[in-house]
Amino acid sequence: MNREENSSADDTETDHAKWAVVLLVDDQAMIAEGIRRMIADEPDIRFHYCADPKKAVHEAIACKATVILQDLVMPDVDGMTLVRFYRNNPSTRDVPVIVLSSKDDPNIKSDAFDHGATDYLVKLPEKVELLARIRAHAKSYIAQKERDEAFSNLRSMQEQLEKMNTELSRSNRELQRLSAMDGLTGLANRRQFDTSLEVEWQRATRSSLPLSLIFADIDFFKRFNDHYGHQCGDDCLQRVANALQHSIHRPADLVSRYGGEEFVMILPETTADGAKTVADKVLAAVASLNIPHANSEAAEHVTLSIGVATLCPKEGSQPQELIETADKMLYRAKESGRNCIEVAQPSSTLKSVCN
Ligand SMILES: [Mg+2]
Repeated sequence: MNREENSSADDTETDHAKWAVVLLVDDQAMIAEGIRRMIADEPDIRFHYCADPKKAVHEAIACKATVILQDLVMPDVDGMTLVRFYRNNPSTRDVPVIVLSSKDDPNIKSDAFDHGATDYLVKLPEKVELLARIRAHAKSYIAQKERDEAFSNLRSMQEQLEKMNTELSRSNRELQRLSAMDGLTGLANRRQFDTSLEVEWQRATRSSLPLSLIFADIDFFKRFNDHYGHQCGDDCLQRVANALQHSIHRPADLVSRYGGEEFVMILPETTADGAKTVADKVLAAVASLNIPHANSEAAEHVTLSIGVATLCPKEGSQPQELIETADKMLYRAKESGRNCIEVAQPSSTLKSVCN
């Protein structure tokens, strides 16, 4: 049996927290009536009554009790056992339980508190005392629940924030990767080349080890585009880029698209001989692609002209010197009939080439 006395139809979940919701569990209807009369006129207390101890836990959960008034002597299940049941159920674990006993016996009181009771009153209590105890316990319980909910919300917000931060970091890394990449070929772009060259230049200055640069340019590429169309031109650039990328194996080596059909390789700690070996590989790799080029004067397939320069950077010198030399070598390769490699010679072009 469950009776609700002073509730209204427009109760809402939000309002619910303002009230003390009292559940009386007692097998005696007369006691229930006595308690109901004490509570009935209180606007801040809602009263529920359960006469069947077997339904007590269920009722406490269903009415969202904020205080349970628990009789001790009942048929089937005694009050002490019920108190333990409330404590063992996650939904009622923290609900204050005021034991209503017919005896003012210290031993029973002690037993009740041992079982998890919050308070102890002798039946029938004074109205003023009963109301004061109900209000105090309900207030404390509701405040505790609100704190728990606030903490839980805070924790979930924190988790969401951490998730968003992780996602943001991932997006930033991806953005950084994309901003350093040439969209067509997937190689490093010009900006990344500039940054990397600066870093390697500084490193080589400190270590006094040689730094090599290889410029490679597709021969007669304008004619290729004019003849085969821009789509084929793009395919050609991608395949050449791929061949260049596969010609280097050390993590510090970097292939970039310098612009148009021109590529550049940074080879740290590499002598002119070492760079020439890489350039040979690149030339052979592109030749073996065997991409037909009907309008080339260099060969029947797509070829490269390559310029190689090596420097041991001196303190205060600029990487521009290395770029200009490699570019000059590339120009010389073009002049020499293309599909070939020109390497800057230490004696003739650069005093500081270390070979
Ligand atoms: Mg009883």
